[in-house]
Amino acid sequence: AKSAGGNRFELADPESDARAITRHGLTTALPTALDRGEFFIEYQPLVHLGDGSVRGAEALVRWLHPQHGVLSPDRFIPLAEHTGLIVPLGRWVLEQSVLQARAWRDLHGGAEALGPLRINVNLSPCQLTHPGLVQDTVEILERTGMSPDALCLEVTESALIGADDDLLKPLRRLAEMGVDIALDDFGTGYSNLANLRRLPVSVLKLDRSFTQSMQRFPADPVDLKIVEGIVSLAHSLDLAVTVEGVETGAQAEQLRVLGCDTAQGWYYARPGPRTASTTWPWSTRRA
Ligand code: C2E
Ligand code: CA
Ligand code: CA
Ligand code: CA
Repeated sequence: AKSAGGNRFELADPESDARAITRHGLTTALPTALDRGEFFIEYQPLVHLGDGSVRGAEALVRWLHPQHGVLSPDRFIPLAEHTGLIVPLGRWVLEQSVLQARAWRDLHGGAEALGPLRINVNLSPCQLTHPGLVQDTVEILERTGMSPDALCLEVTESALIGADDDLLKPLRRLAEMGVDIALDDFGTGYSNLANLRRLPVSVLKLDRSFTQSMQRFPADPVDLKIVEGIVSLAHSLDLAVTVEGVETGAQAEQLRVLGCDTAQGWYYARPGPRTASTTWPWSTRRA
């Protein structure tokens, strides 16, 4: 809380002081947290808007901190990026997620029964510039016996703005192998739409802010037009459109009518479960 009109003296801000202390503590504890096994992953299903089937799940990392409890990635991913831990942490998330996908596949009688189920894993910009990305990914897929088609890597739009060929090269390699690349938080950056053709992406993940604007009724006609435009552009470039942050059935219906392909959000399921899952966690039927 800031002092209202105080330009004569500054009040200490206890809240931000506490945050700074916590941030310092977290930064100190972070490097060993991976070895101590304090991270875990929750999964959130991606649901086909046309038929309601689960088509995959996004892996979302959490930190079970011994003092602070469960911390959301917004609290520690920036610190992990700053300290370099993001590379081993990201590799761990990738490996765990692919292993989980493998376990679900085995549980449901092989690849066929599972249909097009995919696992989505977030990549930080630091991982993109790390030379081991392609090799680590190939190694994990080979060791787990999973096909590259089962994996989708999510990269934020902002990480790729103005990306030169060197940055795109590892993503191109992965895309050629069959790994899907999704452009996350799409619509929040200022990417040149024509530039999309240059990027090795096959999925656009429309940012939550668009979904939120569908909440108002009637929805803002300009927002509707924008989403309609993005969807038709995406489809003309052979990209699938995923929407995130779907919280109500009305939003889902609106986005389905606008032509979006898959959706993710609390309306379908919160990220979960908190414990390692050997069964299919969602009541929503599979493809
Ligand atoms: P994101 O990739 O945009 O992930 C979607 C976020 O929206 C998640 O937050 C998810 O829990 C939340 N969400 C899902 N459905 C709804 C909904 O219906 N309504 C609302 N209001 N929110 C919803 P979360 O789990 O806190 O993750 C935050 C961000 O942290 C992610 O945003 C992603 O950028 C980053 N992140 C998560 N896991 C990883 C990871 O393994 N590696 C990296 N580099 N980043 C990660
Ligand atoms: Ca994401
Ligand atoms: Ca997102
Ligand atoms: Ca985000």
